Amino acid sequence: MAEIDLKSTSQAQLRSGCPLWGRTGQRPVFRPLDDHLKVDVLVIGGGVTGALMGQHFTERGLLVAIVDREQPGLGSTAASTAMLQWEIDKTLAELEQFYGYERAAGIYRRSAAAVSGLAKLIAGHRIDCAFRPGQSLFLTSNQEGARDLRTEAALRERAGLPSRYLEHCDLFTEFEIDRDAGILSRGSAEADPLLLTWALLDLAFRQYARLVDASVTTLNSEGNRVTAETDGPFLIEAKTAVLATGYTMPGIDMPKLHRATSSWAMATVPQTDGTLWRDQALIWEDSHPYLYMRTTADGRIVAGGEDDETTDPSARDAKAPEKIMAIREKMKRLWPQADTTVATAWCGTFGETVDGLPLIGPVPSLPHVYGAYGYGGNGITFSYLATQMIGAMVSGGYREWFDDFAMDRDGPGGATRELAQRDVEMVGR
Ligand SMILES: Cc1cc2nc3c(=O)[nH]c(=O)nc-3n(C[C@H](O)[C@H](O)[C@H](O)COP(=O)(O)OP(=O)(O)OC[C@H]3O[C@@H](n4cnc5c(N)ncnc54)[C@H](O)[C@@H]3O)c2cc1C
Repeated sequence: MAEIDLKSTSQAQLRSGCPLWGRTGQRPVFRPLDDHLKVDVLVIGGGVTGALMGQHFTERGLLVAIVDREQPGLGSTAASTAMLQWEIDKTLAELEQFYGYERAAGIYRRSAAAVSGLAKLIAGHRIDCAFRPGQSLFLTSNQEGARDLRTEAALRERAGLPSRYLEHCDLFTEFEIDRDAGILSRGSAEADPLLLTWALLDLAFRQYARLVDASVTTLNSEGNRVTAETDGPFLIEAKTAVLATGYTMPGIDMPKLHRATSSWAMATVPQTDGTLWRDQALIWEDSHPYLYMRTTADGRIVAGGEDDETTDPSARDAKAPEKIMAIREKMKRLWPQADTTVATAWCGTFGETVDGLPLIGPVPSLPHVYGAYGYGGNGITFSYLATQMIGAMVSGGYREWFDDFAMDRDGPGGATRELAQRDVEMVGR
């Protein structure tokens, strides 16, 4: 069976179809190197993670290079449905089972702080990316799920999180949604991920970041510096390097915590006035496979899910018609008023971890090199969290909670990963 080689994965393998984003934006220009380059921070990857990272470090006055071997933003970022949520793929109750209440509640609070930090960043720089703060609605369609959601809502209340349990009749009267129960939460948002990425790259560029069109093939860490070999004749030397290569984890043995899956999404034609649900909350269901829905500024419904373990890009693409049909049917059952006519559809590789948490922090055995891998449905929330954590780490700051997201952490039940090598090999384009 063919599998994605994550070392050499191209954007075309990571996603296909035609996402909705970036139609009004300008893609920043990345230029090839014409000499060796010396910077404070080298960011490898120009998707949303690399863009956030680059903007963060340039704002701190550091000299930054952001390198991408293909089109910035057109990897997984362009496939994202960009629901900016603090609710993690694993519920607080599940995380409590894994790691105990205090640690689980701390993780949830940091996720909530990350969404509000991202909102402040966007507002502070007046980034034009269709950003809209809002609420999210987590639904269940059976009695057992309703009991679980009640427990979940109580745990969230104890953790000080802004969630409220809704019984069937509340859901129906407040949202006209016919499900057994739900949790309504404040503090989430939505955006156009491509406009966000390009605007952040532009901000970094204006603060003197170099936007470099190259493939980093090898990273060496020696003494106090990291040297990147590229597919051209030039080297980039940096005090710190950040891997923001998305679902391509370069040359590092894949942590056992992590696995690749596939996900499918579509956008409808704009809905006629008055046919969207109240407040256009972000909606997600606890069904297997799950369904999620959001809306766009021009009144479309974006829906996705149907994840499965397909990893081969052509098998993933071949499944698209049947997956999009399933998403449309589920959408219609949940919101019968929807016009489910497909305007555009797409699919992509998706990365998950067993505990639903990202992999952020020092790459073991490779001094001064950090990984920023925001896996799961909260990928972008976690990318922002990564900028805060790696930003602190580079300044010598350390907090005990950083270990919750460490690349070499033990997963639930002691599921460990294997990461051990000095040089990170990356395969060129
Ligand atoms: C269908 C789908 C729906 C999703 N929905 C959501 C959602 O609703 N909310 C959410 O928060 N997240 C969501 N995600 C996840 C989110 O999209 C990702 O977490 C996020 O886009 C990852 O961004 P990134 O910058 O890390 O990776 P990418 O966007 O893939 O960027 C990585 C970049 O690194 C470059 N690169 C790789 N290797 C090298 C190298 N060696 N040298 C130079 N450049 C290199 C690549 O060319 C690429 O441009 C979704 C993902 C998918 C697929």
